[in-house]
Amino acid sequence: MPNILVSNDDGIFAPGLHALALQMTKLGKVWVVAPETNQSITGHKKTLDRPLRAKPIKDVFPAEIPAYAVDGAPSDCAALALMGLFEDIDFDFVVSGINTAPNMGQDLTYSGTVSVALEAAIFGKRAIAFSLVDLQPHGDYNEAAIVARQVTEQAISHEFPIHTILNVNIPHLPLNEIQGVRITKQGLRLYRDVLDRRIDPFGQPYYWIGGEAPSGDFEAEGTDMWAVHNGYVSVTPVHLDMTRHEFIAPLATWDFKVPEV
Ligand code: MN
Repeated sequence: MPNILVSNDDGIFAPGLHALALQMTKLGKVWVVAPETNQSITGHKKTLDRPLRAKPIKDVFPAEIPAYAVDGAPSDCAALALMGLFEDIDFDFVVSGINTAPNMGQDLTYSGTVSVALEAAIFGKRAIAFSLVDLQPHGDYNEAAIVARQVTEQAISHEFPIHTILNVNIPHLPLNEIQGVRITKQGLRLYRDVLDRRIDPFGQPYYWIGGEAPSGDFEAEGTDMWAVHNGYVSVTPVHLDMTRHEFIAPLATWDFKVPEV
């Protein structure tokens, strides 16, 4: 039985984490290490300027699932568990989610959910990030968790290339309305952020980044956004290598030089 670490960015009390952990008990022995508060959109972070504390959480998960709340980032939770929070446990697999919102296109660079999986990949572990499109925080994650279990089952029985994760987005549909599973690439998000400048009671300006929820190119076939928009589960292989390989050769023709003194 594999040892499975379950984490997220919505926090230890998020229903998506609970549903995912319960389904994972059907595949292996499960540990939960998750942020004590909502850490959505915090990206990939490593807390080095202060200690981290992991508090045991009782009565939220079944007794056979050890659960810890950490006062750090989602990626800190993965690092802590993989570096020996449970001294004698070597994890075989890491799953993150189920997030309350999609993680598609450029969202991946903001996502705490995806960062958990990327952190695990840095440690050489196989990892999957799961997100549900779209759902309110207190919605029902049970059917999405069943999908997550089937995807994880496949992932456990196959090899991953090094430094690669699976990023999975699940449409919020009843199981019998999901059209199937599509292997995809990242699509193109369209953010509609608007800067809202206000004045505080002391006459100083402050700023909110507001605006409508992001949109995106739902027509580009083969992308995560296209798949979910058409009722498919989207599975995207994501690499830690962010190099734009095809730009290396053109870039090498530029006239870079170290200035002479
Ligand atoms: Mn989140």
